[in-house]
Amino acid sequence: MMPISGILPLMVDNKSFKSGFISIIGRPNVGKSTLLNALLGEKIAIISDKPQTTRNRILGMVNQPGVQMVFMDTPGIHKPMHKMNEFMVQTALATYNEVDVILFLVEATEPPGGGDRFIIETLSEVKTPVFLLINKIDLIKKEALFPLIDGYSKLYNFAEIIPISALKSDIGDLLDVIKKRLPEGPQYFPDDQLTDQPERFIVAELVREKIFELTKEEIPYSTAVVIEEMKEEPDITRITAVIYVERDSQKGILIGKGGAMLKQIGTLARQDAEKLLGAKIFMQLWVKVKKGWREDERMLKNIGIVTEE
Ligand code: GDP
Ligand code: MG
Repeated sequence: MMPISGILPLMVDNKSFKSGFISIIGRPNVGKSTLLNALLGEKIAIISDKPQTTRNRILGMVNQPGVQMVFMDTPGIHKPMHKMNEFMVQTALATYNEVDVILFLVEATEPPGGGDRFIIETLSEVKTPVFLLINKIDLIKKEALFPLIDGYSKLYNFAEIIPISALKSDIGDLLDVIKKRLPEGPQYFPDDQLTDQPERFIVAELVREKIFELTKEEIPYSTAVVIEEMKEEPDITRITAVIYVERDSQKGILIGKGGAMLKQIGTLARQDAEKLLGAKIFMQLWVKVKKGWREDERMLKNIGIVTEE
């Protein structure tokens, strides 16, 4: 299968190699980013208990002897409100026919709801095999699983139904089942490459994750993080990031009393970034007000939400 536009193989002509693209879809907050991190054994996608954290498509690679699986964490699918959200939904839908397997994540804690049915409707014309992953099974009793499976199987002809707990890294034989569906194909990324996203992007995402953790209500959603500088020196990597908000009042909250909030965001993001990059980091954060950035296509392009054709 011709993969996601713009991704070229590293190596062709190895008949015994298998590879493929696997997209992870589902309502906001069902655990898509958690699953991607669990599959990779590393944190590349940000996680939050607030919905709609993931704004961009993130690829994560799992390599096993003779196989490369390329996973795609998509923004949650929901009814669009802002222009930004429209782009996010389009990103998710556009990938359906470009991939080899679709992993549709739902929550074990509730029966199929309106949001899940909306997604199932979008899948109606899709030829790609869809696996239903019932996530968060650590939160329910085993007996509760059967009616769920029954309910979902009435709604769609899923290729597989697999209960998992992404948080507890209890992903069962998911990788083996996926492997069986992958065609012969080339290796797309080097063995040691974990994600297609540049380090800059992941660092910006880590800052955004801390903002989600530490602030409330509309603040995280009104925020964009742009890495202005990332300079590797022999002993230290210097990072300057700008946090854009929409209003002065939001700027005040993000900076906090005597700069306390901004300092906390910076410290936590720096610690995660140091783990990821394996380097000592000096991180400087700035907060700037940019009214209406969510409606501004240039700004969205800048933070990678609208991909250029
Ligand atoms: P996304 O919006 O679909 O990417 O969801 P996230 O990966 O950001 O997760 C949303 C919330 O669900 C976070 O608080 C996660 O810790 C939590 N979560 C994800 N997977 C599981 C799971 O298997 N069990 C439990 N108990 N919580 C989970
Ligand atoms: Mg996510």
